[in-house]
Amino acid sequence: MHAAALIVAAGRGRRAGGGRPKQWRPLAGRRVADWTVAAFAAHPRIAEVLLVVHPDDIGQVPAGVAHVPGGATRADSVRAGLAALTQTAATHVLIHDVARPCVPGEVIDAVLDALVRHDGAAPALPVTDALWRGTGGRVTGAEPRDGLFRAQTPQGFALDAILAAHRAHSGAAADDVEVARAAGVEVAIVPGAEANLKITHPEDFARAGKYLRGDMDVRTGNGYDVHAFGGGGDHVILCGVRIPHDRGLVGHSDADVGLHALTDAIYGALAAGDIGQHFPPSDARWKGADSRVFLRHAAGLAVERGYRLASLDVTLVCEHPKIGPHVSAMTSEIARETGAAPDRVSVKATTSERLGFTGREEGIAALATATLVAP
Ligand code: MG
Repeated sequence: MHAAALIVAAGRGRRAGGGRPKQWRPLAGRRVADWTVAAFAAHPRIAEVLLVVHPDDIGQVPAGVAHVPGGATRADSVRAGLAALTQTAATHVLIHDVARPCVPGEVIDAVLDALVRHDGAAPALPVTDALWRGTGGRVTGAEPRDGLFRAQTPQGFALDAILAAHRAHSGAAADDVEVARAAGVEVAIVPGAEANLKITHPEDFARAGKYLRGDMDVRTGNGYDVHAFGGGGDHVILCGVRIPHDRGLVGHSDADVGLHALTDAIYGALAAGDIGQHFPPSDARWKGADSRVFLRHAAGLAVERGYRLASLDVTLVCEHPKIGPHVSAMTSEIARETGAAPDRVSVKATTSERLGFTGREEGIAALATATLVAP
């Protein structure tokens, strides 16, 4: 058996929200179509992958992936793909919706195994919920669910058989199994998987992301910063709070050592560099800058990448000023600037027992840990 995967990606479907067709939208760090192609390209029993795309989307095709332009309807697109496969060594074809990016390898195996003895095979799940009929918002009857299945893809066929079936078929069909059956091809049912969901509505992106990333994606980052006391000054700014003090801290920005450590912790969790990379000290724009700008940027980046701030923890190391009386103002400030829930923000302080540079009151050090969770 020489099995090819035919991935149908020519649709314009926008029910899933967003400005562009769902197959080109981001999902767990890649595009939907990239995941779908990879599921088949990485499968040891799939010899080739052919993508059918809308003519406007040729530029979107991942590098190195074979593709043909689709037609006006799904059936036209499938026919174009099948015709192209006759020019290859393929004896069997698995026709798959691009919008099912989480297809497990076991489902692909089950279809291939069944094709040894059948000309057609497709995955499905038995219906387990009760089925009703309804009109005008009222239940009007119940339907027996025995023998009913929820159809999935990939739907696998002997290439000759499905090509002939598609050429003979006219009019609409729900899927390739219907086309095949209309031509007398017997189609075996193999076990589908709940993970093999079809992205249809906006909320399906989050469900698919869970399957692709695992149940939970937890990231932790740490940050550390030091600023020296120097010159005159009558206050320091720590964790966004102005505290009267007999000396100020030296720095290019407002020298908020606490927010610098915390900002770096968030960047660290995202593997997104550090504060100096995003806000270079060589750039005059950040001279005397309010460090809350840096924190907002890091927190915004986390949200943009699909994470929430599950925990933010800062430790300030100094003999003076005394931090305790300001802790509540500091945690509120951090919660407000990051959007984190106040009970997930912690600020605490310690002295270093008069040892080292912090003990000698030459400067203040800060350590921070950020934990991000997706989805
Ligand atoms: Mg700093």
